[in-house]
Amino acid sequence: MSTKALFTYAVHRIGRHPEAEVTMTARCLAAACGWELAPTGDLAAGDEACMTHTGLHPGHDRFERQWSEVSLVTRANGATVSRAGSAR
Ligand SMILES: [Zn+2]
Repeated sequence: MSTKALFTYAVHRIGRHPEAEVTMTARCLAAACGWELAPTGDLAAGDEACMTHTGLHPGHDRFERQWSEVSLVTRANGATVSRAGSAR
């Protein structure tokens, strides 16, 4: 007599949540500056703010930029794959 086990797995994908937006932050890397861009969903405006900072403060031309998003994991096409196995 044996016991059968059923292993089920599904293919998943990850992407940006449809109701979420990408936000950008930036900070100037010039020594002792401390300028930071508050998180914004307007990426072009974020880039513009960095360039404006450089225009006002020559030499402040390096920034750390980060983008953030909310991600969502979903099953790919609702497809699932099952595999039967045996366990003793
Ligand atoms: Zn700066």
